[in-house]
Amino acid sequence: MIDITLLGTGSPMVDPNRAGPSTLIKAGESTFLVDCGRGVLMRAAAAGVGAANLTALLLTHLHSDHITDLSDVITTRWVTTFVPTPLPIIGPPGTKAVVEATLAALAPDISYRIAHHADITEPPSVQVYESTDGQVWDADGVRITVAPTDHRPVEPTIAFRIEYDGTSVVLAGDTVPCAALDELASGAGALVHTVIRKDLVALVPQQRLKDILDYHSSVEQAAATAARAGVGTLVLTHYVPPLAPGQEDQWRTLAATEFSGPVELGDDLLRVTIS
Ligand SMILES: [Zn+2]
Ligand SMILES: [Zn+2]
Repeated sequence: MIDITLLGTGSPMVDPNRAGPSTLIKAGESTFLVDCGRGVLMRAAAAGVGAANLTALLLTHLHSDHITDLSDVITTRWVTTFVPTPLPIIGPPGTKAVVEATLAALAPDISYRIAHHADITEPPSVQVYESTDGQVWDADGVRITVAPTDHRPVEPTIAFRIEYDGTSVVLAGDTVPCAALDELASGAGALVHTVIRKDLVALVPQQRLKDILDYHSSVEQAAATAARAGVGTLVLTHYVPPLAPGQEDQWRTLAATEFSGPVELGDDLLRVTIS
């Protein structure tokens, strides 16, 4: 059994009701945070998880909306653990530089806390592992593999496949349909996919917003990926424009044009269990 909680279903568009993109995955004793957008730790707390409980942080890519709260995750983990507990961070190449720059920006805070607390003697401990393909995790019955996705010109970007107890969940992140994602998602119990409503975004008379059309999947494209890969359940998140109350069925109908299985979508903290 794997538990999926959509901690943040928002996007760069600031929404009082939706945190930035981030998903919590619970598999047995392990708890993985996938991306860490705006407000992630507030939502994680609502789901009963603190930074100290995270087994690892997984990053699909380094777009700011997906890593806004990286410093919060690193610092809160650091000050709420009482023995040094390294935080594994797995992401595409470039992750190490971003983590190091984040730690550099935190240098004053790190020095204040080390000077003030007798029991804090070391800076935050992180272990960064960069990959675009293959197995990145194998512990406590959980196996995680990654594959490259296509979010160009943003690259490299990756999707994660988390396997536990005979089931699997794939987190696509931001991507257009691509063969590597189809393969990674093949036969998965669930596919968590970020989506935009291209039919609505195309109507906005502002080129900067239209720019996002070419490197995201529409609801229908994400659904077609789910169908090609033969996944059990499609979970939609990172709604652009924000999913408005009462419009859930509209989004479901679009997905149903390509995928006949169950489609889950909704508000922050939506929980889906896959077994
Ligand atoms: Zn992105
Ligand atoms: Zn995004």
